[in-house]
Amino acid sequence: KKYVYFFGKGMTEGSADMKALLGGKGANLADMTSIGLPVPPGFTITTEACAYFDQHKGGYPEGLRDEVIANLHKLEKLMGAKLGDKENPLLVSVRSGAAQSMPGMMDTVLNLGLNPDSLQALIKKTGNERFAWDSYRRFIQMFGDVVMGVPHAEFERVLQSVKDENGKKFDTELDVENLKEVIKRYKIVYKKFTGEEFPVDPEYQLFKTIDAVFNSWNNERAIKYRLMNDIRGLLGTAVNVQCMVFGNMGETSGTGVAFTRDPSSGENKFFGEYLMNAQGEDVVAGIRTPQTIDTLKNVNPEVYAQLCEIRETLEKHYHDMQDLEFTIQEGKLYMLQTRNGKRTIFSWLRSQVEMVEEGLISKETAVERVPAQEFNKLFAPILDNKIIRDLNCKVATTGLNASPGGACGQIYFTAKAAEEAAAEGKDVILVREETSPEDIGGMAVSRGVVTCRGGMTSHAAVVARGMGCPCVSGCGEIHVDEIKKTLTVNGVMLSEGDYMAIDGFTGAVYTQKIPVKPSEIMQVLDGTMRESESLLFQNYKKFMSYVNEIKTMGVRTNADTPKDAHHAVLLGAEGIGLCRTEHMFFGGNRILSMRKMILADNIGAREQALSELLPMQRGDFYNIFKELNGLPVTIRLLDPPLHEFLPNDSTTRHETALQLGISVEEIAQKISKLHEFNPMLGFRGCRLAVIYPEILAMQVRAIIEAAIQAKREGYDVKPEIMIPLVGIYKEFNFCRDKAIEVINKVFDEQGLKVAYKIGTMIEVPRAAITADEIAKTAEFFSFGTNDLTQMTCGFSRDDAASFLGHYVNDPDKQFYEYDPFATIDFDGVGKLVKMAAGLGRSVRPDIKLGICGEHGGDPKTIAFCQEVGLNYVSCSPFRVPIARLAAAQAAI
Ligand code: ADP
Ligand code: MG
Ligand code: MG
Repeated sequence: KKYVYFFGKGMTEGSADMKALLGGKGANLADMTSIGLPVPPGFTITTEACAYFDQHKGGYPEGLRDEVIANLHKLEKLMGAKLGDKENPLLVSVRSGAAQSMPGMMDTVLNLGLNPDSLQALIKKTGNERFAWDSYRRFIQMFGDVVMGVPHAEFERVLQSVKDENGKKFDTELDVENLKEVIKRYKIVYKKFTGEEFPVDPEYQLFKTIDAVFNSWNNERAIKYRLMNDIRGLLGTAVNVQCMVFGNMGETSGTGVAFTRDPSSGENKFFGEYLMNAQGEDVVAGIRTPQTIDTLKNVNPEVYAQLCEIRETLEKHYHDMQDLEFTIQEGKLYMLQTRNGKRTIFSWLRSQVEMVEEGLISKETAVERVPAQEFNKLFAPILDNKIIRDLNCKVATTGLNASPGGACGQIYFTAKAAEEAAAEGKDVILVREETSPEDIGGMAVSRGVVTCRGGMTSHAAVVARGMGCPCVSGCGEIHVDEIKKTLTVNGVMLSEGDYMAIDGFTGAVYTQKIPVKPSEIMQVLDGTMRESESLLFQNYKKFMSYVNEIKTMGVRTNADTPKDAHHAVLLGAEGIGLCRTEHMFFGGNRILSMRKMILADNIGAREQALSELLPMQRGDFYNIFKELNGLPVTIRLLDPPLHEFLPNDSTTRHETALQLGISVEEIAQKISKLHEFNPMLGFRGCRLAVIYPEILAMQVRAIIEAAIQAKREGYDVKPEIMIPLVGIYKEFNFCRDKAIEVINKVFDEQGLKVAYKIGTMIEVPRAAITADEIAKTAEFFSFGTNDLTQMTCGFSRDDAASFLGHYVNDPDKQFYEYDPFATIDFDGVGKLVKMAAGLGRSVRPDIKLGICGEHGGDPKTIAFCQEVGLNYVSCSPFRVPIARLAAAQAAI
């Protein structure tokens, strides 16, 4: 088996489509080499080798070591140099890189091959003494940290003290003597922590580092990152061993990162940062504040022009925005990495729409790529500009607009403190000197992130953009004292817990509370902003037109109020898939009439109470029909157990007793009579209608009277009456007959008819199994996947938390791939859905099928629904855009 793939001009073995095997970095290094870009040669050890290493506790598959040595010799021959040689040394980097990019999560070591002998040779060869010592000190630090686990801070402390002792501010100011001193002390630190001398044998260095990179696949932050980003099923990381090029050879050398378009806004302009006389991570780590890419024009116009050309080449080649790394060695440009750029959802939207218009990609490609899970961040709030003007809020300082969105909250200075405060329900703004991969947990719970150092491509910026968390980076005027838990900014001091507001669109930071308001898209949708004023909205509109062209399933919403329905329709809902009537019974004197109805001793008293409820329900339905003019509305009859409507504390019981003119004892008695051990399997759903048909009669009457009223006023009404919790067709038929009886009566009374449908929810496993019998009379099925999951898996939704997390997340268990209440359990519950759909269609080919559980807004479930051939999914209003996009993606 082949475990190593070479890349170098005319000798490249890998290609772009080998990402699973070579990792994204390795595959694209090979690919860039093949299309003639200047890439330092090297070789890639496959992810399969990493998987083997993992399973065999650090063992190599047979032949791997020899294959690495053979490739090393090939590289040495090509370069005319030898790894760590004392005459003509070759130096390499050893880089991680998995199939899906996990920026900064795994490890990389640069300048490998240096030892006292090769160092001297490097000095002789380059005539650049400072550069050689600088490279050596970097190598010791990286090898010590990455391979041997020497705390990074120990090295930083040494570096800082040598700088302080010599009155130097930046790393670049250290001269040869200073660097020698640093290295002397580094070696002492190294020995203290490892008990060994710093290794001199280049081959030993190489294999130790390869092992460390393999091991970094399973370091804590990499595991956390994969979990958070739902990255599954990868073999491991590949290892890239690549010839070094040096950005730290002086002022004609440098290193940088760039995006072919703006990763924050998506604008089609070259975007990036670089540092002269710097190496590797200096730009990303925020060691010095980097220069913006357009200033490179003045520093080295040829290299700048070449980079601009490469930018175009890469976009044309990959048909997507690229995130690239480059290094300039004494005026010569080298490409070190390219990958599809991580970007905000705003940038996704704009870049994909513009690429369609530029003819670079198809509409399908654009739709397929935009991450559905993040789509609702487009609708996330922004800082309220009007309040900023009215209150004359002063910008305390301005940093870089690293990740868009407005945020306001209380400040915390460590990831841990942020996590604790967020757990208490506070809105958190995380303020850090700079962030590191250890901070991702704290960033994930924060409303916004602020850093003092670091550019647009710094860790904080990249991660925050990935999370859709507003971020302002590089606020040089903010000084944080982590120990005292305070910060100062231009004379203002804030303590932990004080308020701060940030604007990730502009980079403005405010040291006060500023409310946030709806996003631009929402403002245009509800008419408070003009379409022509919002480029974002225009792009959104274009993109959604692609979505609508492509998708075949309908997307409805679960809405109980005209307001929710209105909102959902603005977001593109094509009807209501689930209108829960029980929520309409709360509030005001409605709940009182409801309680009267429940507590009634006889049918007369119950009908009296129901007649009070009738006009209220009719009013609700009437307003919903008006709002949904022309779109179908599925209304579910009363579903929850009745005791949910009764007062459960003594004060409300007293009140209720008073209002109803009965004794508290009587109420208490009734309540205890209604008590159930398993209310979710108890007296609820259609069982209520079977025992108290007068409840059903009232609701059906309210629906039909409302529909007729709306129709009279010129609205187009499409009521669909849905009977819940049916298990056997006889239940359904009983309810259906009663409903039709009422409907015909209302038609007679009103002298006007409306078209309607009567169908059922499929949420009891028995109903799914006997769906053919039910479909004889039911005109539609709506899969209520919450209850269906609960009853099929036997997991109580309210009690499963104690073990279900383990079933899903524990690495040694993972019995369920996803939480079955969030993503449908394809093989179990999904199988029932498929079966019921088939049975239903077998007796009624045109039966309408939909899903209305929580799952209806989950992209993975939506893909499943497409496969089963459902007519529509229904989800909560704010997930409607996600569901539309996911439905289009499922149709491609
Ligand atoms: P990550 O995946 O965390 O970005 P990389 O493997 O890309 O890690 O490397 C870290 C840094 O080192 C990057 O800035 C990269 O450009 C630089 N680097 C990697 N290999 C070389 C090399 N052969 N010559 C010069 N710089 C390199
Ligand atoms: Mg890195
Ligand atoms: Mg990189």
